[in-house]
Amino acid sequence: MTAVQPKSDTITVHNPADGTIAGSVSVDGPDAVAAKARELRLFQPEWEAIGPRGRKKWMMKWQEWILDNSDHLTDVLMSETGKSRGDASLEALGVADYINYWAGHAEEFLADKHPTPHTALYRVKKLTTVYRPYPLVGIIEPWNFPLALLGLDVVPALAAGAAVLLKPSEVTPLSAVEFVRGWTEAGAPPVLGLATGYGATGASVIDNADYVHFTGSTATGRKVGVACAEQLKPFSLELGGKDPAIVLADADVDRAANGVAWGGMFNAGQVCVSIERVYVEAPIYDEFVAKLTENVRKLQQGSETDPGFTYDVGAMATGAQRDIVARHVDEATAAGARVLTGGKPTGQGTFFEPTVLADVTADMSCISEETFGPTLPVVKVADEDEAVRLANDSQYGLSATVWTGDTGRGERVARRLECGAVNINDALTNLFCPGLPMGGWKSSGIGYRSGGASGLIKFCRQQAITAPRLPTQKSELLWYSSSKKQARIALAAMRAFAGHGLRRFGIKG
Ligand code: NDP
Repeated sequence: MTAVQPKSDTITVHNPADGTIAGSVSVDGPDAVAAKARELRLFQPEWEAIGPRGRKKWMMKWQEWILDNSDHLTDVLMSETGKSRGDASLEALGVADYINYWAGHAEEFLADKHPTPHTALYRVKKLTTVYRPYPLVGIIEPWNFPLALLGLDVVPALAAGAAVLLKPSEVTPLSAVEFVRGWTEAGAPPVLGLATGYGATGASVIDNADYVHFTGSTATGRKVGVACAEQLKPFSLELGGKDPAIVLADADVDRAANGVAWGGMFNAGQVCVSIERVYVEAPIYDEFVAKLTENVRKLQQGSETDPGFTYDVGAMATGAQRDIVARHVDEATAAGARVLTGGKPTGQGTFFEPTVLADVTADMSCISEETFGPTLPVVKVADEDEAVRLANDSQYGLSATVWTGDTGRGERVARRLECGAVNINDALTNLFCPGLPMGGWKSSGIGYRSGGASGLIKFCRQQAITAPRLPTQKSELLWYSSSKKQARIALAAMRAFAGHGLRRFGIKG
């Protein structure tokens, strides 16, 4: 069973948990995408002109709509992903939280900056850096968080003053339809548009945008990077991961076994920063593996319609994804790994049992490739050095976790890891903290999202403005002279200015 239909003018979306039809969207071809982009561009200058305060007003109305409709949004999300209610219900709230953050901080983050002149001579100038949004930002999203990722990416782009053309995954377009409907029903200016379709629609979005933010697999990310480079368009890529957990011998084993289970099983393991490999120091290996297995075995799996109940682990979003997980487990067991719990597809839809694997080695696909499913392969290591070496031995570098009784040691280990984020004694924490940068190293991405002011500035072009702070003097033009004599005069003038000249004009040195 798969949520994706053969290519046609319409995409019918199925619930992967039970195969029922969840809805449908049209496929936007190149002309339709270009027309949407043109319309968004018409309204963007006014959106920029009303400034962060004017935009905040509309964004807070939109947030109200999202909160009022959060149950409906959760239902739509579940219907196209097969997520458990617990996992799905976090997404609308996450978007509301991110609207608070970005709309609330935009005025501060986008305020003009006045850098300190590098020499005293430039104190006669007013120096200003201005942040002007890219008129049209194209945002292309995957299927694993059809709503939450829009909070991470679309919300800051709008807060920065850009118009946004959003392309959701063909597998999960329905949440994005609702997200944009909420914007319209809140009465906000028409600067948020939706392009639905397959990969070709994503390619058209790139052709029409001024800046591209892409989240998805490393393979597609490379294509997006090439397309942007050919068109000389700036872009950022948030790509795949294979996050390691390092469990040191001094860790609180109960907490580590709980945290690793949560970090590996949340959203059925379909998180770019899911824990996908676990390295445990030998002295606590047996105890840790026993506790982790017990935790994972207890998880309840299924899909539900009763709003008062939630399973722990839902379905995989597609049959293809479930097949990748099954292949990794089968290849591992064929090469000698042991399944301690789970290990196979289950139920009617695209479910895969929450799985723990032991006796795993570095050459197995469950360690070297992104799995993106509910599996936790565990490897015994001799010491911290071996754990760090194996953790870094990956093409990916998204994030990692370190479990230890000594947080100082945890921070020292973090600084040895080749990845964009490290959570100590916790998992996924940085995901929910927009003040911190989130970005992949190595094949996990280019650029960052979030990160306080830089999360808005990435959607802006920076403009330098200089203006005289004093009546303009003809002699200032001397600075640009190529004649040696005049250059010497200019240098002498700079020295004089640096020493005394500024005070004459009432400017503090
Ligand atoms: P894909 O790379 O397959 O697709 C991502 C998006 O790109 C989809 O909307 C897809 O459209 C679109 N697309 C496909 N081809 C093109 C193209 N040539 N030009 C432009 N757009 C195109 O990723 P998945 O949807 O399979 O998502 C899973 C991946 O996303 C995992 O690798 C995961 O790690 C990563 N991810 C990374 C995150 C991060 O922050 N680093 C966060 C979440 C997920 P369509 O679906 O219609 O083919």
